[in-house]
Amino acid sequence: MSKFIFVTGGVTSSLGKGIISASLAKLLQSRGLKVTIQKFDPYINVDPGTLNPYEHGECYVTDDGAETDLDLGHYERFLNISTSQANNVTTGRIYQTVINKEREGDYLGKTVQIIPHITDEIKRRIQLLETNGEYDVIITELGGTVGDIESLPYLESLRQMRRQLKNKDCLVIHLTLIPYLKAAGEHKTKPTQHSVKELQMAGIIPDVLVCRTESHISEDIKEKLALFCNVEKDHVIEAIDADTIYRVPILMREEKLDEIVIEKLHLHPKHGPNLERWNDFLRRYKNPKHEVNIVLVGKYNELPDAYKSIHESFVHAGAENECRVNVIPIHSENLDDTSLPLEIHKIHGVLVAPGFGDRGIEGKINAIQYVREKGIPFFGICLGMQCAVVEHFRNVVGLDDVSSTEVNKETQNPVIDLMPDQVKIVKKGGTMRLGAYDCQIKEQTLASKIYGTNNISERHRHRYEFNNNYLEQMEEYGLMATGFNPGSDLVEIVERPDHPFFLGVQYHPELKSRVEVPHPIFVAFVKAAIQFKKAKEMVKML
Ligand code: GLN
Repeated sequence: MSKFIFVTGGVTSSLGKGIISASLAKLLQSRGLKVTIQKFDPYINVDPGTLNPYEHGECYVTDDGAETDLDLGHYERFLNISTSQANNVTTGRIYQTVINKEREGDYLGKTVQIIPHITDEIKRRIQLLETNGEYDVIITELGGTVGDIESLPYLESLRQMRRQLKNKDCLVIHLTLIPYLKAAGEHKTKPTQHSVKELQMAGIIPDVLVCRTESHISEDIKEKLALFCNVEKDHVIEAIDADTIYRVPILMREEKLDEIVIEKLHLHPKHGPNLERWNDFLRRYKNPKHEVNIVLVGKYNELPDAYKSIHESFVHAGAENECRVNVIPIHSENLDDTSLPLEIHKIHGVLVAPGFGDRGIEGKINAIQYVREKGIPFFGICLGMQCAVVEHFRNVVGLDDVSSTEVNKETQNPVIDLMPDQVKIVKKGGTMRLGAYDCQIKEQTLASKIYGTNNISERHRHRYEFNNNYLEQMEEYGLMATGFNPGSDLVEIVERPDHPFFLGVQYHPELKSRVEVPHPIFVAFVKAAIQFKKAKEMVKML
């Protein structure tokens, strides 16, 4: 039987429940335990796929094609596991299931209510991951902040589960904020007292308080928190701000969070914590020998979370190359001509980001023309690859009126077009080409060199694709299609052999980069940027 850990949040949002959950999971995993994490989001959307990135940041896609919260990216990056639909559930999905069942007549004769029907469905979903007995521990992160109306059914489900489970099978961690008031010169516990009181009103007493703080909290403060919140003093631990999220498992280890959990849940770790690879990553990350600037051309740059997985992939690939990667966001809407608003010697690589709709497209195409002509390492992801194809046909092949039909339905040369199975789709939710698909890579190409294999599987999220009617003409002028989906012949990779590093991919490699296994394309791209910078410096010296 699996043990259950619940993580709730108090006082304010954005305290990092996802990172604390992932860090604890990492520590347990490092002792040989099998762990997974799931997240419950309190909003009514059935999944975050229909949300604008400005709302909740990037939409993270799993192998099985679920469009999920970006915290699942953290879980995968920390744990080096693949998550699935079962790892992210929203209030919308819970209600949809219950309402569908009601329409089927499953509750015939009964009034359908939050308790027990919605709470039963929440509990079923929490326990779903337990069914094949794969995990020693299931960590459930409850989204939102204690006190929100939307969170109440989740807290009620948690109360019920606690009642059903033995004390040693279930544990509640409450992540809270301890603000420091400069004027008073002290840390304040009152907001935490209030949020724990809210939890208690829902019938839940937390076992562990994890206290986010900007500076160390004293033993006195811990004692006060323990007394007022009904928690053992040793179970009040601090989570001080870290220089990188990847330091948090180490900080939690120092605070003995894993030991508390192991003891309380009577867990039997297979061995002591083995964090060798993790620490090796941190060492490389902290001691870079190189430094490069990568320009990220996107249109959601105001919110870095919109490109979360791309940023994290650069952290992983940077550490692998012992290189500090400065990612410089540039808004594609501001790129009116074929130059970038940064001196050329400061640019060592350009990544053109994924996206939807026509806003900022022309700027992306301008940026690609610039890097193609200047020989600057280029990496295009999804829409970024599609823009590289449009740029090629406009400026290298020299066709008139070239576009993607996403941008211009009437274009004479639709080099990027809607996939055939998308033509009749009108509903927007969960209808894109989603999740893992195979790709076969041609021999002797940049892509095959990078991957070291010719058969790969990567994750997707798109409706448009390269129009194969233009394949011959594209390649004749030097942009080669080097990766195809074996079933549909859909072009997955394009590259330009006459350029030092020019790669566009229809899929999202950033979704599969992990701390301990950085993605090979990001690693190669950073390496190319280092080489490009070195070559430029050599020329300057001569
Ligand atoms: N908008 C493009 C499509 O749907 C690209 C999608 C993306 O960049 N994720 O095909």
